[in-house]
Amino acid sequence: MKRTSVFFLSIFIFSNLTCQSDTSVPIKINRLSKRVAVFEALNVNVTVVASADGLLIFDTQRSPGIMSDVLKLIRKEFGRSKVHYVINTHGHWDHASGNQLFPDSIIIGHSNCPEYMRQNPANSIVNIWSIRNHLKELKQELDTLQENTQRSDGLRAEITGRQMVLSDFESRYVTTPPGITFQDSLILKLSDLTLKLFYAGNAHTDHDIIVYIPEEKIAVTGDLFTTRTYYGFRVNQMINAERLIQVIDRILCDKSGIERIITSHTDQLTEEDLHVINSTIQEKYGRLKDKNSAARLLEELLQHNQPAVAEKEYEKRISVPGGEYYYLEDEFTVLGRRLMGAGRHEAALTVFKKECDTFRESALAYDNLGEIYLKMGNTEKAIRNYEESLRIMPYNKNAEEILKIIRK
Ligand SMILES: [Zn+2]
Repeated sequence: MKRTSVFFLSIFIFSNLTCQSDTSVPIKINRLSKRVAVFEALNVNVTVVASADGLLIFDTQRSPGIMSDVLKLIRKEFGRSKVHYVINTHGHWDHASGNQLFPDSIIIGHSNCPEYMRQNPANSIVNIWSIRNHLKELKQELDTLQENTQRSDGLRAEITGRQMVLSDFESRYVTTPPGITFQDSLILKLSDLTLKLFYAGNAHTDHDIIVYIPEEKIAVTGDLFTTRTYYGFRVNQMINAERLIQVIDRILCDKSGIERIITSHTDQLTEEDLHVINSTIQEKYGRLKDKNSAARLLEELLQHNQPAVAEKEYEKRISVPGGEYYYLEDEFTVLGRRLMGAGRHEAALTVFKKECDTFRESALAYDNLGEIYLKMGNTEKAIRNYEESLRIMPYNKNAEEILKIIRK
């Protein structure tokens, strides 16, 4: 990752990248200004803003152990330890699994975030399985490399970090959702800073937020944007792209200005990037909003009806001769997973059934159906669907591994 620029602020000169190796995993510190720094470990950024009232921490890493290491460096870097607010950009496990280290701080997130975190605990059997699998692959790769090369050292450090995550999830991890939540927006006034928190609409998750700090001219955007053209969501899967467009407009039009957009997994983006992102979303959304998405129809019906009623109405509407609906498998998958994440299992089941009906030769569709049956405790139907998925795609590792776990 390239981080070479040097940032000047009045008499301070911040060389903006230092690497720390006295922790279990390598942590890069990217000091952006007197009050702001980004700490990167295992490819996840934690942003820290030092306000007069205490430290503000945005996202809490992949596990308590990793966050604990990051926290040591945060305290050293800023010479202080009081954490005033912890803010979760969203509830994905790689961003919120160190929350339990902050029992005395106020943890803030969107109102859909706590339920998501409770329904999708970081230490779930599937997550632990996938971390174990990933570790196995990393170790196999390490075996093929020569000793003491940059790649082998990097890989060894990554293995150490991921092992720490695994052992945290197997022993001490506790799901700790935000205690303070908001639905639309929230303004927090501190002695020397203002935090403007905006709900970004259904995008990467159903609870993404963007935090804008005018005094520092920064916005923290979580997993929404990776680069100016690569996003953590698809515009055609959003029901309310207008909201995201409005939020970005508000930030771009704020009289204080915006200089840096801090993302969760990459280098920062610029004001110009944000303009490009906004016009890309507007252009794509403009093209799509006049067409009828079958998945979106189902989503809207499920919002207002019991699943069985919604399903009947859906069948009725799409069977009108000369139907104007388009069908994208991704849209069904994302919708179903979003409902599953929110604990709306019956609704998710309806979506995945429709996905299977529409895309009969899709292994992914049957994987999805298997997963929801597993969540609902119907092991027999889960097995049947994973088997169907394997029939369609005999090398489907996911289905194979899950079947192994279920049958144990
Ligand atoms: Zn995410």
